[in-house]
Amino acid sequence: MRALTFLASRFVAGDTAEDAVDAVAQLNSEGLKATLDFLGEDCESDAQAEAATLEYLSLLDAIHKAGLDCNVSLKLTQFGLNLDPEMAEFNLRRVLERAAATENFVRIDMESSTYTQVTIDLFKKVFADYKNVGIVIQACLNRSEADIAELNALGARVRLCKGAYKEPASVAIQKKDLLNKNYDELAKSLLTNGTYPGIATHDEQRVQSVLSFAKEKNISGDAFEFQMLYGLRPQRWSELVADGWSMRVYVPYGTHWLPYFTRRLRERKENVLFVLKSLVTG
Ligand SMILES: Cc1cc2nc3c(=O)[nH]c(=O)nc-3n(C[C@H](O)[C@H](O)[C@H](O)COP(=O)(O)OP(=O)(O)OC[C@H]3O[C@@H](n4cnc5c(N)ncnc54)[C@H](O)[C@@H]3O)c2cc1C
Repeated sequence: MRALTFLASRFVAGDTAEDAVDAVAQLNSEGLKATLDFLGEDCESDAQAEAATLEYLSLLDAIHKAGLDCNVSLKLTQFGLNLDPEMAEFNLRRVLERAAATENFVRIDMESSTYTQVTIDLFKKVFADYKNVGIVIQACLNRSEADIAELNALGARVRLCKGAYKEPASVAIQKKDLLNKNYDELAKSLLTNGTYPGIATHDEQRVQSVLSFAKEKNISGDAFEFQMLYGLRPQRWSELVADGWSMRVYVPYGTHWLPYFTRRLRERKENVLFVLKSLVTG
């Protein structure tokens, strides 16, 4: 795995697309779907945005060639949103075009609240031309109920997550129990009125809430999917699949892993303990 350090390797599939494709082939063989994320965000030049776009174009070809059950996830700041929104749109459209040609799907990850409106606006613009694109909504944001209602009405595919960025009280719920309650409500709204939603969480209580709602409303295992991150709760992935539910694993790869890795450490003390233990035991 070349430059990838042993610390990040629990959460990141490798440095290269080749490493990532191998990891996905293994997941697929266990009945798990995947999404591949070429790590990168807040790019600093047009050249970096171009390089990320080219990586996604060849990644879509590689997924197609290998016949994998795998879509892709990307961040708009990786395509230059922070430099020039028109360039980011141009790059996104190139990827959507290739995804359409290879019968694949592209998920636009959601970044910090500075980008929420511009991400939703750009999503709606491209969704008018491409139906193979989806978005992410964060349960922590006060605005998310209204955003989900609008996206449900459009027929858009939404991934629901809690939100990985530290957000101010002016825009986001700060208390854990209120955030969890909002997550459960938004998940119900997506399961009732949404289009093949992605329920992205490792929180067993959230998973249980969705499972009881789905059973109560006779919502089948292929009407939505659970999503979890590579390296987190692998045993639970298999259990859910064995019980007839769909599970997609989010598989990041690439050398630009530090911001992603830092978010994983911040959200769960056990991830920090894992790192400390690795440092001690080698
Ligand atoms: C597939 C996927 C895609 C995502 N995409 C985005 C995105 O686009 N934008 C964004 O902002 N964020 C994204 N996130 C991150 C997300 O917003 C959260 O930061 C992250 O998932 C942590 O929240 P949680 O719901 O998993 O549970 P947490 O709030 O971290 O955990 C709550 C409880 O769940 C249980 N739990 C958690 N982890 C484990 C574990 N490893 N083993 C056992 N029990 C555990 C514990 O009981 C814990 O107390 C994504 C997450 C996933 C899974």
